[in-house]
Amino acid sequence: MKQRIHLYAIPYLVLLGLGFLLTLPFSGRAQVPAVHRDPGLASMVAQVSTDSLQEYLEDLVSFGTRHTLSPEEEGRGIEAARQYVLSRFQSFEAGSEGRLSATIDYFQVEPNGRRVDREVRMGNVMATLQGTDPEDDRVFLVSGHIDSRVSDIMNATDDAPGANDDGSGVVALIEMVRIMSQQPFPATIIFVAVSGEEQGLIGAAYLARRASEENWNLVAMINNDMIGNSASSGTNLRDNTRLRVFSEGIPLVETEQMAALRRSTNAENDSKSRQLARYIKEVGERYVDQLEIKLIYRNDRFLRGGDHTPFSREGFTAVRLCEMNENYFQQHQDLRMEGGQQYGDLIEHIDYEYLRKNTSVNLAVLASLASAPGVPQEVGVDISGLSNATRLRWKSPENGTARGYYVLMRETSDSMWKRKFYTEALEMELPYSKDNYFFAVQAVGANGAESLPVFPVPVR
Ligand SMILES: [Zn+2]
Repeated sequence: MKQRIHLYAIPYLVLLGLGFLLTLPFSGRAQVPAVHRDPGLASMVAQVSTDSLQEYLEDLVSFGTRHTLSPEEEGRGIEAARQYVLSRFQSFEAGSEGRLSATIDYFQVEPNGRRVDREVRMGNVMATLQGTDPEDDRVFLVSGHIDSRVSDIMNATDDAPGANDDGSGVVALIEMVRIMSQQPFPATIIFVAVSGEEQGLIGAAYLARRASEENWNLVAMINNDMIGNSASSGTNLRDNTRLRVFSEGIPLVETEQMAALRRSTNAENDSKSRQLARYIKEVGERYVDQLEIKLIYRNDRFLRGGDHTPFSREGFTAVRLCEMNENYFQQHQDLRMEGGQQYGDLIEHIDYEYLRKNTSVNLAVLASLASAPGVPQEVGVDISGLSNATRLRWKSPENGTARGYYVLMRETSDSMWKRKFYTEALEMELPYSKDNYFFAVQAVGANGAESLPVFPVPVR
């Protein structure tokens, strides 16, 4: 007798087929099993608007210069710009049911014989979105720098619009605060427009030291510096489909013990910053279309640093997001025409669609991290006895509730995690040898949001 498909089965078969098709875009790109987009998070990402980004940026460049040493004036200079960002942050407090509070964290800086030639008051503009779980002390921090410059680093008076460097990073913060302040997250998110970047990462260094001295449970820091320019100088390249994430493989600070463990477990490509970078690529590409996130295996660009670097030096997990191609006709330039070439960081060069996508990556990653449970604790790989299987075990996170865990696996030569094995247990045995693969474990919350992955240490 011929087999016949019952009529009622057809809708189910169609659904099955659709489900398979839906997994294709994700498995084809990140090569991990499809993980669905959380609808709440996706709807926040959809609210990121080129119109609001443009409006904030037009306001920001209207202050003429935002040089760190610019004199305090009405409507001009860095202090007026700081007050503007503060007022934007504060305008979202009312809709946040008491979760959002904004302030300027001022500090005095002495002349240092380098890029600060007089005593100056600097300030970081901070918007804190308090976590809703009183037991959860985790903090996630995202930054841009409010200061700008022209060719002469000490020129505090000429127009320095800093539209891309780093107006783009600052307006991304305002847009995120607008959207995210409407939503509760169990963990705390701090959005900060730092000062003194161009004078030597001063505001970020001050904040990193403060976080360290006050023992913040700062889980991850994301620096946005130049995320709105898509045209590369000196070439015809124009690319608004790729974003770079910089992370170091070997931590900038390590104890002897940490270094020994890294060498013995071959973890030189598995620093916490590298795990954060991979997470940004996976979650960013999951929620933002037409954008590829490029892992760059450096703390920052060649021989250069940024506001995440002082955090890395304090031992925090920190990365930099930056446009794919930089434009040196615009960056750190006096406004001028020369040989038919326009120089200067002018607002007309901003690619708002690119800025929207890059802002969306930040939002998706922060919302995912702040709504996920904390990382699994004491993640270990069993080394009692030789085996071709790999046994991993761990403990529940200290913050939030995990509904389950993913064990992640990749080839030793892979850049990204390639497979995810789900379990609700606190251990897993896999028929793959720990000699031939790298593993990590991440916790998964009720809404499907994943924690950062934890690279296991050898246990018996
Ligand atoms: Zn910059």
